[in-house]
Amino acid sequence: MVIDSDSDFFKLACAVPLQNATTPSLQKAGVELLVRRDDQIDCSLSGNKAYKLFYNLRAARDAGFYQLLSFGGAYSNHLHALALAGDKFEFKTIGVVRGERPRVLSATLQDAVAAGMQLIFIGRDDYERKAFGVLMDEWRSKFGDFYLIPEGGAGQLGAKGMSLLGHALEHQLKGDYTSVCIACGTGTSLAGLAAGIAAAGQSEKSVIGFSVLKGDGDLGTGIAETYRQLRASKYLLQSHGQVPAANWRLISGFHAGGYGKKHPPYLFDFWRSFEQTTGVPLDPVYTLKLMWGIHWLTEQGYWSRGSRIIAIHSGGLQGRRGFICPE
Ligand SMILES: *Cc1c(COP(=O)(O)O)cnc(C)c1O
Repeated sequence: MVIDSDSDFFKLACAVPLQNATTPSLQKAGVELLVRRDDQIDCSLSGNKAYKLFYNLRAARDAGFYQLLSFGGAYSNHLHALALAGDKFEFKTIGVVRGERPRVLSATLQDAVAAGMQLIFIGRDDYERKAFGVLMDEWRSKFGDFYLIPEGGAGQLGAKGMSLLGHALEHQLKGDYTSVCIACGTGTSLAGLAAGIAAAGQSEKSVIGFSVLKGDGDLGTGIAETYRQLRASKYLLQSHGQVPAANWRLISGFHAGGYGKKHPPYLFDFWRSFEQTTGVPLDPVYTLKLMWGIHWLTEQGYWSRGSRIIAIHSGGLQGRRGFICPE
């Protein structure tokens, strides 16, 4: 993967395998499930964070920056990907981590440090004010100038990267599916993916986001805004399709109680049985709840018989460490 070439990145995205994961309960309902293994897009960078970083790194390089700063928690897939990307593409990286420095770093942060990331820990109150404070000036004088990447790679450039996935899917399947499903945190990925799918000529397909975080209040508003901006921009590659006002929807309520080291038993059982029957490993925060959501909707008769669902495996498998997972 090189950050100077859209076409190289697109080629990588087109080579991502689609794995059949139709479980017995889906089969009974006449629903086929294919998992797009975007967790495997690159050996070091995984999942949607690779897509969301791609144009951010490009913008940083074009603006002459060799140092990047971003934010996240101690298990952040984003900081993990940023550290590895920095190592690979010769950027220095600074990770601002929410909370006090722990005595033992999480496996995620240990990887980040090993990849050369400098860590700064800040209290939760300061963290909430992160974008504005004097802190930025302090860090600039301490570490030198840096390019700021929004938390989670959110924003236009992140969404633009995800739109490329929509084009790659079209290259692979030529519209031979009925819906595409993805887990949502900020929803940047959903907005970009949906715009990309429409631009690739599949504006009739439904693109469904499953919100997995608790307290997702105005998530839909933010997604609509990102989608609208992307649609109004010249970003969308090789657009043959018309991008409609909206081709996505957001379904909430799949947080299963929010964060923790261990999931409630019903979700844990689902996790184990899904992995055993399909061989697709899931991360505890996002893709597990996505697959659970798809199955839950199946039980409600949400999908018509003959549906062919593509679920995006958005990565996050590094986050299994430090979490109680199925054997
Ligand atoms: C960050 C992340 C998401 C959420 O992406 P958004 O663009 O914030 O909605 C989904 N899945 C995984 C594995 C992630 O790491």
